[in-house]
This record gives sequence, C-alpha cells and structure tokens, in this order.
Amino acid sequence: MDFRPSEEQDLLRRTVREFAESEIGPHVMAWDEAQKFSDDLLPKLAALGLAGVQFPEEYGGAALSAVDYCICIEELARVCPAVALSVAAHNGLCSAHISMFGSTQQKKQYLPRLVRGEVWGAWGLTEAGAGSDAAGMRTTAVRQGDCWTINGAKTFITHGRIGGVMVVIAVTDRTGGHRGISAFIVEHGTPGMSAGKKENKLGMRASDTSEVIFDNCRVPAGQLLGEEGQGFINTLQVLDGGRIGIAALSVGLAQGAYEAALAYAKERRQFGQPIAGFQAIQWKLADNATRIEAARLLTYRAAYLRDQGARTTRESSTAKLFASEAAVKAADDCVQIHGGYGFVKDYPAEKYFRDVKLLTIGEGTSEIQRLVIARQLLTQNQ
Ligand SMILES: Cc1cc2nc3c(=O)[nH]c(=O)nc-3n(C[C@H](O)[C@H](O)[C@H](O)COP(=O)(O)OP(=O)(O)OC[C@H]3O[C@@H](n4cnc5c(N)ncnc54)[C@H](O)[C@@H]3O)c2cc1C
Repeated sequence: MDFRPSEEQDLLRRTVREFAESEIGPHVMAWDEAQKFSDDLLPKLAALGLAGVQFPEEYGGAALSAVDYCICIEELARVCPAVALSVAAHNGLCSAHISMFGSTQQKKQYLPRLVRGEVWGAWGLTEAGAGSDAAGMRTTAVRQGDCWTINGAKTFITHGRIGGVMVVIAVTDRTGGHRGISAFIVEHGTPGMSAGKKENKLGMRASDTSEVIFDNCRVPAGQLLGEEGQGFINTLQVLDGGRIGIAALSVGLAQGAYEAALAYAKERRQFGQPIAGFQAIQWKLADNATRIEAARLLTYRAAYLRDQGARTTRESSTAKLFASEAAVKAADDCVQIHGGYGFVKDYPAEKYFRDVKLLTIGEGTSEIQRLVIARQLLTQNQ
C-alpha cells in the first residue's frame, strides 16, 4: 500500500492548479453572475487535456488514470466548482458513456471532437417525474425503419443548451422494465431536439443547466449507443465512474473552502488576537482537515480500484456520500469562520456555500447513495 502520489501526479496537480488559479480564478465571480463561462474556456481546458482526461490516445485523449482524473477535478473545484462540474459531466458522463459502450465507429466519430473541446458533452437521464427513480422515465424511442424517433423531455441537463453532443436515455420497450431502456447519441441541431428553460440556480451558476425537449426527433439507427435494452444497466456503470468524479469535486471544493477559512482565521482579529487563536475556531479547522483527508482517501481508493478494473458500485457511492457531506460541512464552517464577511460576495465563502449543495443531490442524492451502499451490504454479506 503506497499513499504517496507519483512525481507525475505531483506535476499534474501543480499544472492544473496553476491553470485554475491563473485562467479561471480571476473570472469566477463574473462567470457566476453571468451564468456562463467565457467561450474560450473549453478550448483552453482541452489544450491541457482536461476535455479528455481518461480517453485513449488514439482518440486524442490524455489516457490518464482514474486517480489522475480525480486530481484534475479536485484542482478545478478548489478554484471553481462550476467549471469542475462541467468538466466532470463532459468527461465522466457523456464521453465516458460513449467510450465505455460506443462502437468503434461511434468512438471515432464523437470522442475526438469531445476530447479536442470542439463541443461540450451532455448526458440526459433525469426527467421532471423521474429523478432518483430514473428507471421511471417516460421519454420513448420508437424504431421506425432505419431511424429511432425520440419523444419526451429531460430535466436539469448540464450543457442542455450549450452541448454539441448528447447521450439520451429513453424507453424502447415499455414492457421490459430496466431492460427496456436504451441510450442514443443525439447531435445538437437535430430537428425535433430543442433546449427548454435554462435553470436559474442557487449555485454552480456558470455551468449551463436546462431542460432538453424531444418532439418527434428522428436519429439514424446507428445512433443507438450500446445494445438495445442495456441503456439503464450501462447508465449505472457510467454512474459508478461519474460518482467518483463528484467525490473528487467535493474534495476539491472542501479544500478550497478550508484554505479560505484558514487564511481568514489567521488574519481576522477580534478580542485583540487572530480568531485562529480561539479553540472554537481551531476545532472547526481540525475537524474539516480530518474529514477532507478521509474523503480524499475514500475517493482515491474508489478510483484506484476502478483503475484495476474492479466494479466499484459500493466504493463509488461511499466516496460520493462521505465527500459531498464533508464538503457541505466545510463550506458551512467556512462561512461561519468568516462571520458577516462570509455572507457577502467580496469573499469566496458564500460561493462555496451556494455551490456545494449540488454535490449531495447530483448523480444520486445522499439518500440514494445510502440505499446503494445498503443494498450492496445486504446482498454481498459484508
Ligand atoms: C445543477 C444540476 C445538474 C444536473 N445535471 C444532470 C445531468 O447532466 N444529467 C442528468 O441526467 N441529470 C442531472 N441532474 C439531475 C440530478 O441527478 C437529480 O436532480 C437527482 O438525481 C435527484 O433527482 P430529483 O431532483 O428528481 O429529486 P427526487 O428524486 O424527487 O428526490 C427528492 C428527495 O426525495 C429523496 N428520495 C427519493 N427517493 C428516495 C428513496 N427511495 N429513499 C429515500 N429518499 C428518497 C431524495 O433523496 C431527495 O431528498 C442535475 C441536477 C442539478 C441540480
């Protein structure tokens, strides 16, 4: 067992940190206010390999490990959780689904464009009436000759408006239950596909989220992604990876909030001394530092096992559950340590506090993670 990062991983962390601090840091609040990133963000991310972290070199990817991917997401989230969320959805949902289950032809057609940062990737599972119970979706895809016709609407889709390529999950056999669901690749601009309402969010505001509507949207039969009827099962496998990304995002956000709180505690004076001198503040800092370390280790362990080819359903959910709840506490304590200054936009605390709440909700709520973990415990006898 070796807990030390390799020299390459130290370099990767420094490189992404420098990029995040210089290219993203100065714009964080402006992008949050504007509810969008600048147009040159995606090409810049791609130039650093961040638009295709884990994908094979033959498709232009950086071919890094899942642990390396966690380091990248962590360092982006430390500076801007909204950028990290978009990068995680692009890599860990849309591109990962195509990479894991696409045909060679589909990978050749879509991965290079996604990896080069020509388009943002989107991934549509959730619907207004089917969130945690995603298999209860109503969007349908019906085979008609050489095409599939998709009808329905997806809700809360990251890059629903700006995405160029979207993986959509739809019911193809109403009688098939979980095995009656399939996935499709749909390109932006396909007739019958349109973006609905842009969500006006509490946090992660720079990351685009919207409804996506399918009204007799016809796609060629070749756009079926993976086997017919396997879409939901494949989705759960994609989420096993995606949740490690959200755990890493949580670790990075918590680290950013903790560092801001630590710096402020050393600088802010009350009762004639820095507030860091008070035990009440020290305990908050110590508890957060401890939780962040534990969250990081759970996250890297899940990623490491994934790199070994193991199925990580339980480990991914454990990491996501613990890390996201640790991040919520870190962001809350960050505001508390800042006092009134934590409540205004001149300091980073309030943004971490707004952004963090998504992490116990997206890619499965904390309640659903507990349900997944408990199911594994009960069925695996561990
Ligand atoms: C900013 C943002 C980005 C997102 N991006 C995407 C995306 O790119 N693609 C995508 O497909 N989706 C995306 N989502 C959707 C997200 O995954 C869902 O919001 C999430 O899965 C929860 O679904 P829901 O909102 O319908 O809540 P619900 O499922 O309605 O849950 C409401 C509450 O009930 C609880 N609950 C539900 N079922 C149970 C149960 N069995 N036991 C105990 N408690 C339960 C939940 O934990 C929660 O507390 C995004 C959401 C947001 C906010």
